[in-house]
Amino acid sequence: VGSDPGLPVLGAIHEQVGVAGRILLLTHVVPDGDAIGSLLGLGALLRDRGKDVTLACSDPVPGLYGWLPGTAGIVARGNGRFDLVICLDCSDPKRMGQAYSEDLKSVPLINIDHHITNTRFGLLNWVDPAAVATAQMILALAEHKAWPITVDVATCLLTGLVTDTRSFRTPNTDQASMQAALGLMEAGASLPDITRRALDQRPLAVIRLWGQAIERCQLERGVLWTEVTRDQRQSWALDGNSESGLANFLSSVREATVVVVFAEQDNGLVDVGLRAVPGTSVAEVALRLGGGGHPQAAGCTLAGDLAYVKRVVLHEVWTMLEQEPVEDT
Ligand code: AMP
Ligand code: MN
Ligand code: MN
Repeated sequence: VGSDPGLPVLGAIHEQVGVAGRILLLTHVVPDGDAIGSLLGLGALLRDRGKDVTLACSDPVPGLYGWLPGTAGIVARGNGRFDLVICLDCSDPKRMGQAYSEDLKSVPLINIDHHITNTRFGLLNWVDPAAVATAQMILALAEHKAWPITVDVATCLLTGLVTDTRSFRTPNTDQASMQAALGLMEAGASLPDITRRALDQRPLAVIRLWGQAIERCQLERGVLWTEVTRDQRQSWALDGNSESGLANFLSSVREATVVVVFAEQDNGLVDVGLRAVPGTSVAEVALRLGGGGHPQAAGCTLAGDLAYVKRVVLHEVWTMLEQEPVEDT
């Protein structure tokens, strides 16, 4: 198991962290609960050890996670002088967006991530696809040195586990992730609170937007897809971060092997969210299209208009489905 605390890379990470004074922590663009939870959780752990820590994320913290302790201190760019950069939940360097600037090139970078598609772009790379969330790896990192887990740290890390597993329902949920969750609850995190705030609450406008997208969804040769246009999102005064729940919801459709949600952005790009039933993987398709992810949930961002991106992506997905017969599960 990759999260084995005996892993040499854990010792190497602790060595680097031990000698660093100023540490920059980064996470991915359009952050999810694991990105924000891991960033804040590791940030608090390192501050408790007396480190001078800066937390950076290219995009604002979604309102859904605004209640987590420390979100106000997250900046958009890692400016200043640092001894060490730690990149969290990013499968490739592009995912850091503006938070990573060229003048950080000379600073050692540690890459901590659980995406199977990780390109191992760090000086040290700890990539554990067996972990359900990067937050689970941060807990293992803390446990390796018996760092005390405060209620705030536990709350941030459990948020990462809850959101990436959709409250322990994804097929990668296992004893190790439940054990991690139990440890975090013992440290004071509230599972029902986190589940309600991060997964079970959304504005009515989001549901109305989903309603339009659901009405337009199409099913063909095992692929269920739909789209959210810029105009639709603007008419409900929403920003570009409400479609990942829609893809998860659509993945409950029995007839679908793969779900694709196309979300037109304001900058001429289209975000593509992919989901697959167990036995089929969308990670490779996403990687081929310049993105990444996990076997059951992946994504990519393509330039071009909606019609073009739909054609390219659906062609790739159908080709993949024809080549890789669905395994029995
Ligand atoms: P989402 O559909 O946004 O919930 O994303 C599902 C999974 O795919 C997450 O693990 C993301 O990290 C990954 N993912 C989504 N979009 C991209 C992208 N543009 N590039 C790389 N990975 C992505
Ligand atoms: Mn993430
Ligand atoms: Mn994650």
